[in-house]
Amino acid sequence: MYFAGIDVGSTFSKSVICDEFGKVSGRGMLRTGVDFKARAIEVLDAAKADAEFPEGAPMKVFATGYGRNNIEFADGVMTEIACQARGVFHSIPRAQTIVDIGGQDTKIIFVDSNGKLGRFIVNRKCAAGTGAFLEEIAHRLDKELSELGMLARDGQGYKALSSYCTVFASSEVLDLLRRGVDIHDLARSVFLSVVVRVMELATFEGNVTLTGGVVANNPILADLIKEKVKGEVTVPPYAQFTAALGAAIIAREKFGKKTRE
Ligand code: ADP
Repeated sequence: MYFAGIDVGSTFSKSVICDEFGKVSGRGMLRTGVDFKARAIEVLDAAKADAEFPEGAPMKVFATGYGRNNIEFADGVMTEIACQARGVFHSIPRAQTIVDIGGQDTKIIFVDSNGKLGRFIVNRKCAAGTGAFLEEIAHRLDKELSELGMLARDGQGYKALSSYCTVFASSEVLDLLRRGVDIHDLARSVFLSVVVRVMELATFEGNVTLTGGVVANNPILADLIKEKVKGEVTVPPYAQFTAALGAAIIAREKFGKKTRE
């Protein structure tokens, strides 16, 4: 028996397959686009290919994420908050504040030393402090998103942008560039703005674990957050896949769990 988690995110769909012992055997990721169900099937196929999944082997699937309720073939659905907490605790079993920066929202989730979910905060109202903010600024600067992160690494830091709104922030960035601010410093300011917006959502308590595509692809984010919090800041391996992993682990717990003796 195999267990799969599919996280149909607002921007990227991710899938993780694990075996009866909870060992991950494959992962897949694709841009979500408009058709949640089609993307869920494709991303599961991608994880199966990665896992060299044996044809016809039994599998149970849990869906999570923005598009989870469109995945009719799933054996169960679970919220992103529960899956994120479960997936992170599987890799990092400690009390922690999970900060998940996704394509269109940011979540702060508190987990205790037993992995029990505490309170959580979700920002879905505004692009500030999300991947969408970075995508928009990169677009306005005519840069690839990955390039923006690389530029920021060499910046000395200017200051966080004063505009909260993404549209106004884009104009502010162009204005600063025209006034001669170094592109590296400016790129660092853009990432610093994301950090400031995210840290406005809640006080980070204890050790902090960072997840989601923004952090996974832009190491500068973790570096900037480390400068601002007292606790240990960790980015787990495959940080964009933690909710999908959590969904797979929850499927395994529900439908059949084995431990190596
Ligand atoms: P969601 O689950 O909401 O779809 P993810 O956690 O998958 O979001 O993160 C998506 C975000 O990750 C994108 O909006 C983008 O900011 C960032 N991202 C994804 N791939 C890259 C990349 N190759 N380089 C830089 N940033 C990336």
